[in-house]
Parts: sequence; C-alpha cells; structure tokens
Amino acid sequence: MSLIDRIIRSDIHSQSAYHVPDASGCVKLDAMENPYSLPNALRSALGQHLAQVALNRYPVPSYTLLKQKICRTFGVPDGFDVILGNGSDELISMLSVACARRDLDVPARVLAPVPGFVMYAVSAGLAGLDFIGVPLRPDFTLDRAAMLAAIEAQRPAITYLAYPNNPTGTLFDVADIVAILQAVGQTGIVVVDEAYQPFAQTSFMSRLPEFENLVILRTVSKLGLAGIRLGYMSASTALLAEFEKLRPPYNINVLTQATAEFLLDHVAVLDAQAALIRVERERLTQELTALSGVQIYPSAANFVLLRVTDADAVHARLLQQRVLVKNVGKMHSLLQNCLRVTVGTAAENTQLLQALAVALSS
Ligand SMILES: *Cc1c(COP(=O)(O)O)cnc(C)c1O
Repeated sequence: MSLIDRIIRSDIHSQSAYHVPDASGCVKLDAMENPYSLPNALRSALGQHLAQVALNRYPVPSYTLLKQKICRTFGVPDGFDVILGNGSDELISMLSVACARRDLDVPARVLAPVPGFVMYAVSAGLAGLDFIGVPLRPDFTLDRAAMLAAIEAQRPAITYLAYPNNPTGTLFDVADIVAILQAVGQTGIVVVDEAYQPFAQTSFMSRLPEFENLVILRTVSKLGLAGIRLGYMSASTALLAEFEKLRPPYNINVLTQATAEFLLDHVAVLDAQAALIRVERERLTQELTALSGVQIYPSAANFVLLRVTDADAVHARLLQQRVLVKNVGKMHSLLQNCLRVTVGTAAENTQLLQALAVALSS
C-alpha cells in the first residue's frame, strides 16, 4: 500500500482538483467577473489606504467595523449580524461541516435544484453529507412540486436556492421559495444564495425576521471584487452563533479587510458598474436572440445561458478567436449544448457577438 493509499480518503484521491483554464490573451467571459476596473483616483486612494495596513499583525478576528459596514451597505435587517467568509465558498464549507451530524444512522442530506452551483454538492460530499439534486423543468424554472416532494421524503438539513441560479440565470418565483421555506420549517435551513443580487436587484434579505430557518448567503465577487475573496452570510442569532464556531479565526486577511472597508464607502462606483452590466445584458440578450442557431434563456444575473447545436465546436471556434466562455454542455443532461457567457464591457460583448457569428457559420 502506498503512502497516498494509506492516508488519503479514496473519494478524494479519485477526484481531480478544480481546473481553471488559462485565459491569457483572451476576452474573458467565463467566470462572471465584473469587466471594469476602478477609476484611477480611487485606485490611488486605495493604494495609500493599504500602505497604512500593519502587515506584521494578525487581523482582529471580530472584524467589527467591516461587519458594520456590510450590514449598513447591503441592507441586513436591524437585529441581524453577518459572518464573514474567504469567499462564499468558505461559508458553504462551514455550513456543510456544521450540519454533518455523526450521530445519525444515515448521513444528513443537502438538497438543491439541478443544474445549479457545483460547490453545494462538492462541499456536501467532502463533509460526508448526501447530496440530492432535484431537476429543474426543461425551461429552467423551479419544479415546485418535485422540490416539495423531495423535501418531504428526504428531510434535508440544508436546502440551497441560488437566487438567481447559476448556470441558468433563472430567478425562481418568490412564492415557490416561500413554499419551500414553509415546507422545510423546523427540520432544516434554507440557504438563499444571492451571489448575483447586484444584477437581480431583488432579495430575501429583508425577510430574515419572518423565517427562523432562512440563511442569506452573499459575496462581493460578482459586484467587482472577486479577487479579494469576501463572502458574508446572515441568519438568526442562534444559527450564526453555531456557524461562527467553524470560522477559522483569521480567515479574512488584513488586505481584504482594509480594501473592503475602504471600498464600501465608495460602493456607488460598483453599483454604477453593475447598472452598466445590466444594460449590456439586455443588449446582449436581444442581439443573441436575433442570431439564428442560438436559443437564449432569460437571465437575472451577469451572464446569459445559450444553447447551440454543437457547444463543443462553437466553444472551440470562439477560443480560436480568443473569446473564452464556459462550456456547461456536459454539466447536466438539461444543459446539453449550452454555453454560459459572462456579460462583459460593450466592446467585449460586440467582439463576442462577431466571433459567435463566425463560429456558427463555419
Ligand atoms: C460565484 C458564485 C458564488 C461564489 O462566490 P465566491 O464568494 O467568489 O466564493 C456563490 N454562489 C453562486 C451561485 C455563485 O455563482
């Protein structure tokens, strides 16, 4: 038996690490990043602010000022606090570990509509929870009856709803989400993942006081700060107190902390960029609709999902023209021949549309 076989879990040994393709020289429309940079004056001021940070000191792990600014800026209701994560990915891991009870006959369950955000299933598996995916309808709307039946049968500890959903861009119905919150009741938590809130402009945040089992998950990544890795999560005081025990004490580094504290005072800059992206999403949607050989799905996020006749070929031909999009065609049977395209700047979107016209005609 080799060292690896002796010590590494077999399910981990058989997995491959998360792969990110090389995007150098490409128009990068694969990862839902905000394409804009900060204005020069703001960058200089931020640089000066960061120069004052004591890099020799550990962060102060209460993060009081940053949490206050997040609560104020992003509409966390009075009486509710947040927990910070190194991206919302870390918060998802904390939720999985917290609910991975070891005193049950069968593993606790995590439920989410599929196709959905892959980290829910990955994180559940790593923590030893069973993941149950409930297929969306073919038009990517939520199958309410199937969700309620699965909740009744499986009694999941965690139900995830990405609002809007990735990779489909769908904004699920408020009434369906409320029905799920009520059906789950006291038997589990419902995590409404609002990573794309800046583009959907709707939220369950203000409804936290109504539902004891509601957890709101957010990130600053899609708003324009993917590089600093900062997510936050709100829920009842009792739930947050438990999740806080799983947070590595210094998980938010001082540069992330200082950058976020500084930029949240200038969030209007990021909000204006999100508004530009929403305008471009509408233009991109219209122009893609006009292309023959492309089916496009309505999106409330900063990306659009489209279906072509041969996603592998179109993806490769786009890459030849140095346009990188995400081929999600093999992620789930409902996504056959689908590509996910992040909304870029006006110039980038024009480049995509031109490259796509070439790719579809060759
Ligand atoms: C991008 C994304 C996240 C991840 O956010 P990070 O904070 O960058 O880790 C979470 N949920 C969904 C649905 C996403 O698409």
